[in-house]
Amino acid sequence: MHVNNEKELYETCVDFFHFSLQLIREISPSNRNLKFAVVNIQITLELFIKYYLVRQGHLENIADIKNGKLKNYKKFDTIMNYYFSNTKWSYGEKKELKKILDARNLIVHKGLRSGWDNDLAIYIIKCVLFIHGTMLNSFGISLLKGYPQPNPISTNLTWREGIEQSIDKLNTKHNFSVFHCPECGAYSLIPSNIIGLDSNPDESLECLCCFYFYNIEAEAAVINCYKCSESKSYLIDRLNSDERQQHLGKCLECGINTPVRKCYECERFYHPNDGEFTFDNNYFCSSDCKEIYEECM
Ligand SMILES: [Zn+2]
Ligand SMILES: [Zn+2]
Ligand SMILES: [Zn+2]
Repeated sequence: MHVNNEKELYETCVDFFHFSLQLIREISPSNRNLKFAVVNIQITLELFIKYYLVRQGHLENIADIKNGKLKNYKKFDTIMNYYFSNTKWSYGEKKELKKILDARNLIVHKGLRSGWDNDLAIYIIKCVLFIHGTMLNSFGISLLKGYPQPNPISTNLTWREGIEQSIDKLNTKHNFSVFHCPECGAYSLIPSNIIGLDSNPDESLECLCCFYFYNIEAEAAVINCYKCSESKSYLIDRLNSDERQQHLGKCLECGINTPVRKCYECERFYHPNDGEFTFDNNYFCSSDCKEIYEECM
């Protein structure tokens, strides 16, 4: 019985999640779309929390069961309280998620035809991240994969603001480096171990605003910047080099973009400005590397 409930909740939740993103893309202070996004994200949230709890084996605590059959779920208020009293840490804040529920009730029960509410708009974006983050961390399921990269949703100003605020919030707890995304320009490029787009084990820098990512094991590399001294902010195109061992790179912090080199001996990336050594038309990061190469000749 649980398996069926779980599957239905999951599939409907995923559909509503994607539709919510579609709606969020269209929200703006200059139109009346916010209410559609609010109602949809509230439904997504409700389905998600039920799915989460059922999958974790809590069905009996959130539903009325008679003769082994599910009669109905308890009121969502009750279920949400149960969720928050049974989870230690989460990407979402109860009071913000609650606001979405309240707004949804006002829209549905009182026909509230309110205009723009920036706080509410930000809450629904945080709610998207809450659902995605929890789904990924708890079950290894990514709801954001398969989207175009960069995703056009990143041009929505409210989406950008909501994503940047969520990252700020996470950063006060976890303290990680945040960079401007070279693709969409939002201040939202972060290490994948914080809240990734997918459960790829490779280390990467990922933009939560446009979903673009840089795999810094296979395709890209990061080193410290020689100009602004920021650590691991210099993003390098690992796969493309010229005949002089040069790779294109750019500091995500200060914007400087002089080429870097890959040492002929140890294959480490370095800034030529920091000093380098040459022999036989090959470039080396240190005199040691140069000597090792010479000895093997
Ligand atoms: Zn981006
Ligand atoms: Zn720099
Ligand atoms: Zn070297």
